[in-house]
Amino acid sequence: MIKLTQIKKTFGKNQVLKGIDLTVQKGEVVAILGPSGSGKTTLLRCINYLERPNDGEITVDDFTVNCKKPHKKDIHTLRQKTAMVFQQYNLFRHKTALENVMEGLVIVKKLTKEDARKRSIELLEKVGLGAKLDAYPSQLSGGQQQRVGIARALALNPEVILFDEPTSALDPELVGEVLAVIRKIAKEGITMIIVTHEMSFAQDVASHVVFMDGGVIVEEGRPNDIFNSPKEERTKQFLKRIT
Ligand code: ADP
Repeated sequence: MIKLTQIKKTFGKNQVLKGIDLTVQKGEVVAILGPSGSGKTTLLRCINYLERPNDGEITVDDFTVNCKKPHKKDIHTLRQKTAMVFQQYNLFRHKTALENVMEGLVIVKKLTKEDARKRSIELLEKVGLGAKLDAYPSQLSGGQQQRVGIARALALNPEVILFDEPTSALDPELVGEVLAVIRKIAKEGITMIIVTHEMSFAQDVASHVVFMDGGVIVEEGRPNDIFNSPKEERTKQFLKRIT
C-alpha cells in the first residue's frame, strides 16, 4: 500500500532523515513516536511532498515516485492519494466549516457544488459538527477546528491520511474529542499514519508502532511489543521518560 525506500532528507548540513524504510499495509494505523527533533514530522511531510526528499522512493498504492528525479506530475498524483491533517488545523479563515470541506471536493474532485455540499454535510455530521456548518474557524474551539480538518481530509477520499501531531495544539480538555473522531475513522479501515505524543492512544488505536530517533527508525512492531517489551535501549529510555 505504502512503501518508503531509503528516504533521505537534509536541511543545510543537517541530515534529518538518514535512509528510512517503511512499509504500511492497507487499513493499517501506524503511530510514529520519538523524541522531539527525531524527524517524525519531516518524514510525514515527505510522504506527500510538502518536503522534497533528497533521495529514496515513495510508493503509494500502485504509484512510485523516484525522489531524485521526480516529475511535476508525480507530485500532483502523490498529493491526490494522500491527505494531511495539520497540528495547526490550517483552515481557510474566511470560509465556513462547510466551505472548508467543500473546497477540495469542488476544486480537486470536480464535484458540482450541490454534490460537494451534500457530501460535506455528511462528513461534518460524522465528526460531530452537524450543528456548526456555517461557523467560521474563529467561532469554533480548537477541537472543533481540528475536526473540520479531519472532515476535509476525509473528503478527498485519499489512500492514506497523514496526521501531524493532531492534538498537540489543543487544550487538554479538547484532546479527547479529536482522538475519539480519529479512533472512529480508524475503525472504518482507512489507512492512517499518525505522529503523536499520546502514548495511550497510540497503544490503543495503532496496529503498528514506529519508534524514531536521530533520523532513523530504531524499532518498529506491534504496539504490545513496543510498549511492553521494547528491545532497543533507546526505545526503553524514551518510554521510561514519558510514561
Ligand atoms: P520531530 O517531528 O521528530 O520533532 P522534525 O521532523 O520536526 O522532528 O525535525 C527534525 C529536525 O529537522 C530538527 O532538527 C529540525 O530543526 C529540522 N528541520 C525541520 N524542518 C526544517 C526546515 N524547514 N528547515 C531547517 N531545518 C528543519
